[in-house]
Amino acid sequence: MQEQAKKKKKQAPDPRHSVIVVGGGAAGLMAAVQAAQQGASVTILEHNEKTGRKICVTGNGRCNLTNLNQYKEAYRGEEPEFVSEIFRQFSVKDTLDFFEQIGILTVEKKGWLYPRSGQAKSVSELLELKARSLKVKIKTREHVKKVFQKDGLWHVQTEGWTYQGAAVILANGSKASAVPGSDGSGYVIAETLGHQVIPPLPALLGLKCRDKGFSSWSGVRTEGRITLLIDGVAQKEEEGELQLTEYGISGIPVFQLSRYAVRAFSQKKKVGLKINFFPEYTEETLRTLIANRRKFCPYQTETELLTGLLPDKLIKVLLKQKDPLGAACDFELEVTGSTGFEQAQVCSGGVDTREVDPVTLESRLHKRLFFAGELLDIDGACGGYNLQWAWSSGAVAGIYGAKEII
Ligand SMILES: Cc1cc2nc3c(=O)[nH]c(=O)nc-3n(C[C@H](O)[C@H](O)[C@H](O)COP(=O)(O)OP(=O)(O)OC[C@H]3O[C@@H](n4cnc5c(N)ncnc54)[C@H](O)[C@@H]3O)c2cc1C
Repeated sequence: MQEQAKKKKKQAPDPRHSVIVVGGGAAGLMAAVQAAQQGASVTILEHNEKTGRKICVTGNGRCNLTNLNQYKEAYRGEEPEFVSEIFRQFSVKDTLDFFEQIGILTVEKKGWLYPRSGQAKSVSELLELKARSLKVKIKTREHVKKVFQKDGLWHVQTEGWTYQGAAVILANGSKASAVPGSDGSGYVIAETLGHQVIPPLPALLGLKCRDKGFSSWSGVRTEGRITLLIDGVAQKEEEGELQLTEYGISGIPVFQLSRYAVRAFSQKKKVGLKINFFPEYTEETLRTLIANRRKFCPYQTETELLTGLLPDKLIKVLLKQKDPLGAACDFELEVTGSTGFEQAQVCSGGVDTREVDPVTLESRLHKRLFFAGELLDIDGACGGYNLQWAWSSGAVAGIYGAKEII
C-alpha cells in the first residue's frame, strides 16, 4: 500500500510545469494538444460529461471546420485586426496539416471544408485521442468556479477540488446555443480576474420581424438578396437561400447580417431589412416580363401570373401588398429582435482583446493567464471561420502557455 502511495505521489505532475486548460471544446482541446507537444504536463477541466460537445453539432453534424476563402471582414469584434498575428502563427494550412496528421482528411464545397467522414464527432474524437496520446489528463464533470493566483501558482477551483498549475488557459467558449455547458461562466471568471468583457450578444441566428402575414410564408426557402438598414441607412448586403419563418426570417444570408442587426438593435437603433426576391432582374425588367406574360396569358389571375416564378406561399404574402411587384423587389421588414442565445451559433462580444497580447494571447493583466476561442471578443462569419478562430487561437495559447513554464 505504502509502495503504491509513493508511486502515485511520484507520478503527480509538478504544478510548476503544468498547464491547466479550462474548457474541453475546440479551442481547449487544440490548446491542450499543442501545450503537451511542447512538453508541458496538461490537464483539461470540462464540466460536461465529455469533451467537444459543441464540435459534434457544428455544420449540421458535419463540422464545417474551416474555409479556404479567408478574408479580413470574416472576423469581427471591437478590434478585428487582433486575429492577424494569430493566423500568421497558425494558419489554415497549419490547421489542415494538423488535422491530416491526426487522421482527418477534408472535402470541400465552395471553399467550405468538412471532414471526409461527414461526421463532426470524428473531429472531436480524434482530437481527444491525440490529447490522450500526449498524456493530457481530461477531467470531465468538473465545473470551474474560480481561478486565482496564490504562492506563484494558478489555482483552479471546481466543486470538489483545487487544481494547481503554472499557467492557465481559459477556453470556456460563449453562451451561445442550447448545447449543455454553454453557460457563459467564462465571462464571470474573466471579470473576476479584472478583465473587461464586451457584453455578449447572440450572433449567427434568425431575426424576428414585425409580422407581415408570416404564418402564410412559414416554411418557404427561396433565393434572394437581403440588405441590412440601420437607422434607414443600408449597411450590408447578402445573397443566397432565405428561410421564411413564422417569426420572420432566417438562413445563411440572414445569419451573416445578424451580428450587426442584433448589436444595433441592442443600442436602440432602428433596424430594418429589405429583401429582393428577384436579385437577377431589375424592377423594370420584372415589370416588363409580367406585362408580356399578361399579354400572352390573359386567362391567368394575378396569383397565376407569379406562379412558376416564386413559391406559392410567398406569392400569397406579396399579393397582400399594395404593389406586389414592387414588394417582390423591395420587401421591407422591421427587425424586432432575434431568436436568442439558445438558437445562436456564436456570440459577438467577450473578453476585450485590448487587454490580451495579440501575439501570445497572454493576459496583459496577469502573467501566465491565456485566453482562446470564442470567449474572446472575436466572432466569425458563418462558413467555418469560428472554428478556425478556435483552432488557431487554441494552438497559439497552448504553445505560449507551455513555453512560459518549460
Ligand atoms: C449549432 C451550431 C453549429 C455551428 N456550426 C459551426 C460550423 O459549422 N463551423 C464553425 O466554424 N463554427 C460553427 N459553430 C460555432 C463553433 O462551434 C464555436 O465557435 C466553437 O465551438 C468555439 O470553440 P470554443 O472552444 O471557444 O468553445 P466551445 O466549443 O463552446 O468549448 C467551450 C467548452 O468549455 C466548457 N466550459 C465552459 N465553462 C466551463 C466551466 N466553468 N468549467 C468547465 N468547463 C467549462 C464547455 O462545456 C465547452 O465544452 C457552430 C455552433 C453551433 C452552436
